[in-house]
Amino acid sequence: METKSISPHDILTNYLESHSLRKTAERFAILDEIYSSFGHFDIETLYESMKKKNYRVSLTTLYSNIDILIDAGLLVKHQFDKGNTYEKTMDCIRHDHFICRQCGKIYEVSLSKVEDVKEEVSQKYGFDVASHFLTLYGICSNCKELKNKK
Ligand SMILES: [Zn+2]
Ligand SMILES: [Zn+2]
Repeated sequence: METKSISPHDILTNYLESHSLRKTAERFAILDEIYSSFGHFDIETLYESMKKKNYRVSLTTLYSNIDILIDAGLLVKHQFDKGNTYEKTMDCIRHDHFICRQCGKIYEVSLSKVEDVKEEVSQKYGFDVASHFLTLYGICSNCKELKNKK
């Protein structure tokens, strides 16, 4: 099987078929909305955005479909301290997160040393690391600048 050309649509189709779930237009519309426009988002943002495009979908439907997308490996749920934040897993570059305590903004950071940490875990403990989530908290450069101006 060609893994390179597999699209989010294919993954969802396979998932729905193997779980005997219906391939509704709604499910694909939700997937498209997420994959075409969002980095990090919460359910309310997604709901508002779909409503603006005159797509009628209830919050309940969104929640249940988000669970399907997570289970299918198309979405990941981050439990940052301001609540659940979702993010697509395909079409995005591997990154970690920095969250500003001041403005609440989520930044994506690319850290080369994380690979060393994985290597260390494997050498020290003999574990194979498959995935990781790293979230750093602090004050971002914008907020630091604002603070200094005051
Ligand atoms: Zn900030
Ligand atoms: Zn992210």
